[in-house]
Amino acid sequence: MTTPSPESGRNSRRKQPALPGAAEQTVPLFEARQKIQPRAIGGLFARWRWAMVWATQLFFYGVPWLQWGDRQSLLFDLQTMRFYLFGLVLYPQDFIYLAVLLIVCALALFLFTTMAGRLWCGFSCPQTVYTEIFLWLERVTEGDRSARLRLDHSGWTLEKILKRSAKHGSWLLLSLWTGFTFVGYFVPIRTLAVEVMALQGPWQMFWIFFYGLATYGNAGFLREQVCKHMCPYARFQSAMLDKDTLIVTYDSQRGEPRGMRSKARDSAAATAALGDCIDCTLCVQVCPVGIDIRNGLQYECIGCGLCVDACDSVMDKVHLPRGLIRFATQNGMDNRWSKAQMLRRVLRPRVLVYTAITLAFCAALAMSLAQRTPLKVNVMRDRASLARIAPGGQLENLYRLQIMNATENAQRYRISATGLEGLTVEEEDRHIALAAIESRWLTVRARIPYGSAAPGPHAMEFVVTAEGKDPMTVREQTVFQVPN
Ligand code: SF4
Ligand code: SF4
Repeated sequence: MTTPSPESGRNSRRKQPALPGAAEQTVPLFEARQKIQPRAIGGLFARWRWAMVWATQLFFYGVPWLQWGDRQSLLFDLQTMRFYLFGLVLYPQDFIYLAVLLIVCALALFLFTTMAGRLWCGFSCPQTVYTEIFLWLERVTEGDRSARLRLDHSGWTLEKILKRSAKHGSWLLLSLWTGFTFVGYFVPIRTLAVEVMALQGPWQMFWIFFYGLATYGNAGFLREQVCKHMCPYARFQSAMLDKDTLIVTYDSQRGEPRGMRSKARDSAAATAALGDCIDCTLCVQVCPVGIDIRNGLQYECIGCGLCVDACDSVMDKVHLPRGLIRFATQNGMDNRWSKAQMLRRVLRPRVLVYTAITLAFCAALAMSLAQRTPLKVNVMRDRASLARIAPGGQLENLYRLQIMNATENAQRYRISATGLEGLTVEEEDRHIALAAIESRWLTVRARIPYGSAAPGPHAMEFVVTAEGKDPMTVREQTVFQVPN
């Protein structure tokens, strides 16, 4: 894999020492970006990419509008610190689920990268998906690749102004809609829509414009620069690839020496001396990052497979077998393995280990979510008040209990305590009613008969039980202090 030189990121110019007799030369260390105008191509991988665009965008734009009961089905409500996920309501205390989910995502990324390279980058990364949509809008408003190249090099005519306005207008509309949808995952989207129409909610407006402009800049202008220079994944993915990873590869043994089949050289002998690559450069023209895969695997390659589609279409036209550029492993290429031989090697120990760990985390997450009790209890001793003698001659300790009803129905709870002989909770503290998704701090008095326990700390636990049709119990340990 080729990597940039350590100096390639510096925007500077260095004077080369002049050779005797030679004119002094200035060599730029920073190469200006060449604008890439990729050619549209059809084929298997292009269809997969569009299928992923539809799947991800239907989810992204559609889900915030789905209702679950009388609330939004998927909402990260930062104001109340609640995360609604269809029938599930999660709190900051449930952060562990999010942490495990992120670990599962990271492991799945490692697993797929080890098996088939940068599948994520080529097919489902938001940067790739939005660049694809923006490119489509560019094609609709400005024409195909050659028309766009002509437009780039032409002066500012009325036609250019109109086409550029249409392109940027459509980009901006889509970007702002994307920003609005994104904010709609954090603020109920129906309320947000009303606020936006009334030009209210300065913070919401700020984040809609911020995210919208980020989309406009990244997908409209920066494009492959994000993948090349900003995304860290491109840099460490090489550590996850090995010789049995499926990657987009040019079959140089078959393709070289490359050459055009020009009429002048169209003799049988001249054609026989050439490889299958007709040097049409279509694979380079369709590449969204503007590389030539015939130079070998490069860190810029996002594994989108469009060069495979392009080359297959060329091979069909010249009546040669498809697959001059294909998904293959390095071992498969070197040893001329069949597809079946390569696929067998995909299930190697490294892949099996990643799979086992990923499945173990998924199972742990599913089990702990299934066993999760929608009732949270936190106990704190009231440090302002030490043990005291209560009316009736009992020894009393005070506690602060936080009870959180994590269901979406009102609940009644019964509070009791165990662990010490004669331990009771004062009558008026024993029952509490909480509304749906309500959390409340209470002061609870626990008492034991005076002299029934030796001086010092004693372990005890509060037992909070939900009454009604969804019975559930949570036990929380604490300490009962008996003074000397
Ligand atoms: S080289 Fe091929 S697979 Fe890699 S980014 Fe370019 S078109 Fe996609
Ligand atoms: S598309 Fe195929 S034939 Fe054309 S230049 Fe690329 S590798 Fe060669």
